[in-house]
Amino acid sequence: MRKLSRLWLGIESVPGLVAIPAYWDHFCGPDFALIRRHLLPTDDIGAAYPCPRPRDYDCPRRVIDYCDGMFAAICRHPHKLCDTVPLAPGDALAYSLDLPGLLLRMADLLGVRSGSTYTTRPDGVLELGLSTNRATRNQPVFLLAFAHHAAFESALRNLVFSCPTPFVAIAPTGNHLNVELRENLARRQSEFVALEDRVGLSDDGRFAVLESADDREFEPTPVEQRHAVVEKYKTDFSCTDQIIFEDSGVHKTDFYKWIKGKLADKSSKSKRIEETLRSRPKARIRG
Ligand SMILES: [Zn+2]
Repeated sequence: MRKLSRLWLGIESVPGLVAIPAYWDHFCGPDFALIRRHLLPTDDIGAAYPCPRPRDYDCPRRVIDYCDGMFAAICRHPHKLCDTVPLAPGDALAYSLDLPGLLLRMADLLGVRSGSTYTTRPDGVLELGLSTNRATRNQPVFLLAFAHHAAFESALRNLVFSCPTPFVAIAPTGNHLNVELRENLARRQSEFVALEDRVGLSDDGRFAVLESADDREFEPTPVEQRHAVVEKYKTDFSCTDQIIFEDSGVHKTDFYKWIKGKLADKSSKSKRIEETLRSRPKARIRG
């Protein structure tokens, strides 16, 4: 088993997930082969071609069209520091990564129950389905693959404000996450998962889970946020304290102790309460 850091970082480095094959190769390195069959040709010719050792703003090389069905990548530096590379039409064409197609192959690794397709929202966020992991069961799972920090930040803020329930945000890496965004997520009882830490490659060349989501421990909710978290939960699900302590299988007094920080974080009661507050209320027979 090995990590796929280069692959996930590479995917997050390509703006709009569209680039010529040489750039996909450049960014994903030895892991390029893993996504090759998910690259779909576009109608556009790429503008730039990577340089082996980018020097200054004259790099990277420019793709030029000879108008006879052939292309080349030429150095723009006055001293022609990088070699000219002749390009077949297929090498000059920009390819779009079919990220939904790639992720469908690993839905069970991500702990997502979904249909056969994923929906892309107007802001570029992918709706993957509902979580099947114990700690986040039935929460919606979203994928945010953005090369630019500003786009990531705006999409995540949008989710925090618009999603009515706690959710799971997945991104190729954790590089765009900062303290403020992490606090925003914590206030919504929402989790962040970096694919870099979750999905690796098994020794026989298949995508595999690096760390089981179900084995992870909860970060205890900070005591000063507990009251607000409980109130938010009751509003979100129109429920009462009683629903929460019943679903957690704890006595009412333990529940109030937990809110005040007087129940040990490591106790199974605390863990069950944390788990309840990260999922929907259990179904009940009315009457
Ligand atoms: Zn160059």
